[in-house]
Amino acid sequence: MYSVRLKKGKEKAVKQLHPWIFSGAIEQVKGKPENGDIITLTDYNNDFLAYGFYNDQSRVAVRLLEWNQETEINESWWRKKIQKAVGARQDLIQKEDTNTYRLIFSEADFLPGLIVDRFADFLSVQLLTSGVERIKPILLDELQQLLKPKGIFDRSDASSRTHEGLEASSGGVLSGIEPPEFLTVKENGILYDVNIVQGQKSGFYCDQRDNRRLVADYAKGKRMLDCFSYSGGFTLNALKQGVLEVVSVDSSALALETLKRNIEINKFNKIPHRFIQSDVNKQLRQFRESDEKFDIIVLDPPKYAPSRSALTKASRAYKDLNRMAMLLLKEGGLLATYSCSGAVNISLFKQIMAWAALDAGKEVQFIHQFCQPSDHPIRSSFPEGEYLKGLLCRVG
Ligand code: SAH
Repeated sequence: MYSVRLKKGKEKAVKQLHPWIFSGAIEQVKGKPENGDIITLTDYNNDFLAYGFYNDQSRVAVRLLEWNQETEINESWWRKKIQKAVGARQDLIQKEDTNTYRLIFSEADFLPGLIVDRFADFLSVQLLTSGVERIKPILLDELQQLLKPKGIFDRSDASSRTHEGLEASSGGVLSGIEPPEFLTVKENGILYDVNIVQGQKSGFYCDQRDNRRLVADYAKGKRMLDCFSYSGGFTLNALKQGVLEVVSVDSSALALETLKRNIEINKFNKIPHRFIQSDVNKQLRQFRESDEKFDIIVLDPPKYAPSRSALTKASRAYKDLNRMAMLLLKEGGLLATYSCSGAVNISLFKQIMAWAALDAGKEVQFIHQFCQPSDHPIRSSFPEGEYLKGLLCRVG
């Protein structure tokens, strides 16, 4: 087996079970491993540290898999890791009212670069590292045995694969039958038509499952504004819980079309709702000009800070967005605000909200903190896996 030797003093994080080795920490690569090959990682003194897979195209040159020297990384090792991840979702798999969630979440499940989502009878797979690309046949077979899906299809994100020096995947069906263009899934007892072919990311943002239900409890009998609504996660939960009226804003026509379908298939048509296809920032200003006010506002924007270098700009964007929303709330109104930027941690997010409150001339109380759900676990040795956070604010 090839081996990779670390520079002096670079072994500390590895010993704390952190799974990433950046290329700058490497003293020497012994032999010529191909990308995706399993290597032995040693410290500067050549003492064993861990096994991982190698990729000289990636910023993360080694992704660690196993810290026990006696354990061989073979087919049965991979199968066990897959079984363990799926087994940890048993509570979700047993649920009657939900059939869409994440079954495997990359490093968080000790399978770097592998993401598997369930959409009712179908599974979507993302293979984002050269290491997991190689285990595709084992993965498909194990998933078939464990979950017996009607079909498994590839939804590997092209830009993540490019970062790893991998060719864009051809996509499409990997096993079984092709999913229909609109697949109906269920979450919290609500039906969603997911457009697998064109939908964003994995066609549905299952990471907000718990938060949608929590917010809906506060929306009863209120006038709600759902910004960045996509196919209506927050809107539909609020409609189910008896919101008085909802306005949903998104810049994507396809998202709003899907939201309309979702309202129909759930028979929520009786409650007043409005869809606005617009840039949220522009729309918030327009509401301000027309003096339109709401009891509760949801802000679930896309990732503003893809990396730490974008933090200053992103912080300003979050602040401006939240300040505008605060100005549209009635006295004592609620703002459910999220950030899915890993670089923005909860304390910075609170700080941003404090700046927004000051600029808006409002007093804000944080009454609830949101995080990612149990199918998106955060490994204690891998804090980078924590990305979704949110605050429920009472704005006075
Ligand atoms: N809240 C949604 C998920 C939001 S994903 C849910 O529960 O499912 C982010 C959404 O923001 C996407 O639908 C995207 O189309 C939309 N979006 C991105 N930038 C936008 C902008 N400037 N104005 C309005 N919508 C935007």
